[in-house]
Amino acid sequence: MSEHFFGQAKFLLSAPKLKYLPKDEGIEVAFLGRSNAGKSSAINALVKQQGLAKTSKTPGRTAALNIFSFDDERRLVDVPGFGYAKVSLQMKEQWRLLINQYLTEREALKGVVLVMDVRHPLKPQDQHLLSWLKEAKLNSHIILTKADKLKYGEQQRVLQEVKKNISDDVSVTLFSAKSKNGLLELREKLSYWYLLKI
Ligand code: GDP
Repeated sequence: MSEHFFGQAKFLLSAPKLKYLPKDEGIEVAFLGRSNAGKSSAINALVKQQGLAKTSKTPGRTAALNIFSFDDERRLVDVPGFGYAKVSLQMKEQWRLLINQYLTEREALKGVVLVMDVRHPLKPQDQHLLSWLKEAKLNSHIILTKADKLKYGEQQRVLQEVKKNISDDVSVTLFSAKSKNGLLELREKLSYWYLLKI
């Protein structure tokens, strides 16, 4: 049932400002992460549609929240990756403001999936975001992507290390868009946030 639900995802709109977002009702789950962490690949795996979230990125593209809808009440929000070295300070500030405003003001936002490359977890921006999410009391789930790039033992070592450094109420799993490792847990978490009956 949940597989069918996630497969229904459709691109709805791109919102460069909060005022362009759909009416603030229903349930939204946001995906955030540093650029190149594997966020688009994770979203595409989740919805079983290659290319729904764009995987090729041009630094400097306009900052916008990309909204996908599953049904009339449930949406997924792809938040622009943070951490590009190449964009101007002014643009970084614009991104920061947009993300900040979305996370603080959006009533429909039910949970956040934080995407981190398993080989580069808990970078300062991730840490900053996590402490901020905690303060805002937002439900959070971390996926450590590209797990297939590490050997099993190494994956487990990173997983334990990350667990040690985050608060107990944040869940974390290994993930691979390639092997689909962790996909079931991601779907379960989202099903719970979306109040799906499964
Ligand atoms: P985004 O910038 O966070 O949206 O990252 P992308 O999804 O565009 O992925 C960045 C790069 O990592 C691309 O070259 C992907 O093919 C690669 N990638 C993403 N997820 C995985 C994964 O699970 N396994 C492997 N091996 N490569 C991945």
